Amino acid sequence: MAAAATITVPSRLTALQQDYALADTMALLRAMIQQEFAGRIAVVSSFGAESAVLLHLVAQIDPSTPVLFLNTGKLFGETLRYRDRLQDLLGLTDLRAIGPHPKDRDALDPEGSLWSKNPDACCNFRKTMPLSRAMEGFDAWITGRKRFQTDDRADMEPIELVGARYRINPLADWSQADLDRYMIEHHLPAHPLVRDGYLSIGCMSCTSRVKEGEDPRAGRWRGQDKTECGIHLDSFTDGGGI
Ligand code: SF4
Repeated sequence: MAAAATITVPSRLTALQQDYALADTMALLRAMIQQEFAGRIAVVSSFGAESAVLLHLVAQIDPSTPVLFLNTGKLFGETLRYRDRLQDLLGLTDLRAIGPHPKDRDALDPEGSLWSKNPDACCNFRKTMPLSRAMEGFDAWITGRKRFQTDDRADMEPIELVGARYRINPLADWSQADLDRYMIEHHLPAHPLVRDGYLSIGCMSCTSRVKEGEDPRAGRWRGQDKTECGIHLDSFTDGGGI
């Protein structure tokens, strides 16, 4: 009797990349949410400066798609209020706030100042570990990462494999002008801190205003080599856009 053919994970990645190579943003999102990973996919959102675009796209396909929001305990109050406003506006029915475990917080950062001494360790227990726990029930997650944002993102594919899970980047080839146009066309509210000069918004401790002409992400971890939290790196254990 002939052995049953099995589809390995790498060959599925290749097949997905080939099948959706020409798909536009909406077609790719629709296929991932409703066909390829139906019931096994989540959006990860920071509810930052550009998050409304991805959330609006997803909500048009299925507003009950799980949205994982990393509440690090260090966010701006404006971000929390913006999250509530977008949830209401877009009708997101499965928004999940995830955060650091109290035991980790007490053991690793009892004074809340780890960000100033070891930001990678801080991102690890406030972002990577909670997201790793939350992702246990999913096979794939959707990000709002764009190629233009950082050198590390310049070559990313719309569909990637990170460990055992798929990372979907439907906005990979969007430009800042595309995002701005979409926000205006769909009457989406901007994060309230954008008008104050915060063009990429993460934790309060590690986000500063961006001067005119600076890279929009220059205000993240200013003065440090760090450009990513780690949750978007090639392994969840490394510790986006968040
Ligand atoms: S961005 Fe800063 S405060 Fe937030 S988790 Fe990372 S190091 Fe900690």
